[in-house]
Amino acid sequence: MAGIYIHIPFCAQKCTYCDFASYPREIGKCEAYFAVMYKEIKYRAKTLKDKVFDTVYFGGGTPSFVNEKFIYGAMKLISQEFKIKPNAEITLELNPGTITEEKVKLYKKAGINRFSVGLQCADDGMLQRLNRIHTTDDFVSAMKLLDGENVSVDIMIGLENQTKDQIEKSIRLANDLGASHISLYSLKAEEGTIMYSKYLNGDLPSEDEVADFYDFSVKLLSTLGFSRYEVSNFCKDGKFSRHNLNYWLRGEYIGFGVSASSFIDERRFTNTSKIDEYIHLLLNDKYPEIFSENIEGDERKFEFIMLALRTTRGIVFSEYEERFGEKFMVRFSDRVKMLMPYLEIYEDCIKIKDEYLYVQNNIIIQFMD
Ligand code: SF4
Repeated sequence: MAGIYIHIPFCAQKCTYCDFASYPREIGKCEAYFAVMYKEIKYRAKTLKDKVFDTVYFGGGTPSFVNEKFIYGAMKLISQEFKIKPNAEITLELNPGTITEEKVKLYKKAGINRFSVGLQCADDGMLQRLNRIHTTDDFVSAMKLLDGENVSVDIMIGLENQTKDQIEKSIRLANDLGASHISLYSLKAEEGTIMYSKYLNGDLPSEDEVADFYDFSVKLLSTLGFSRYEVSNFCKDGKFSRHNLNYWLRGEYIGFGVSASSFIDERRFTNTSKIDEYIHLLLNDKYPEIFSENIEGDERKFEFIMLALRTTRGIVFSEYEERFGEKFMVRFSDRVKMLMPYLEIYEDCIKIKDEYLYVQNNIIIQFMD
């Protein structure tokens, strides 16, 4: 099974921490963007006739910011051009400040059956400082419109002057309003973002403080019935994100739109992040990819290990053996011995102990040759 990702790079305004491909001033290019993206979808579909897709994900940017007819059109085209599994998971990212009843109706008609809502923090002062376009009340209204749907909520930790009370309020509100999935992201102040100067000034919480917020959140989520299945992702009733789990299992995916990445037949490739270049290349019947690499030999193994160890499922020995024709515990016996205090070893799998999952990068790196 494979996934389809569609990038919608338009937003009402730029959040202070955002380093995604999102362009608040480019909404005028929306029509042209979708027109050429439909072209890209058709081109790629010709080469992917043998693949079956299990998930579709509209991410951004803010997919709910553009007119809903574009999402409907894109989904209709995707259903025509690709083999989509009947019970596929079809997700749309949604900003609470951009949603209406009419939009939700058309999304559902388009086949969207999962919504990922960006709350970030249930504190209006903080939302304003982050330059989010919505309030906590907008979030409550959005969740009411999505009542009964499969909903995930994004919450951030590590914000300037953030308190545990604020985090608790955000998590409880998402839970009370019916979220069955929560993604808990630690703020990363990337170079080039508005937030980066705060990072340089030392105005953001220290790594230890953020780790403490994380532990606090994990415990609270657990008492509310959410299980952690990946370092930043928690769900109830088995409602994990099939789309994201596919990434962590090193499954294949095809991405459309600016900056979208793909991984097909052991080749990773990425589209240009510039809207004008993207439109220009497709208007001239060229693929918009600007980077491509084939993943060979041991690099495949390392990727598999790195991704699998992010999850609480860990590395399943039979899956490793099936892919690489060797036994994990034989090939990596020395590393496993060295990292024993951090690992849980079972008959059929190996995983990072719960208490070390947050710092998994330091452990995973040891598996590189
Ligand atoms: S809504 Fe999301 S993509 Fe848009 S600017 Fe904010 S963080 Fe970036």
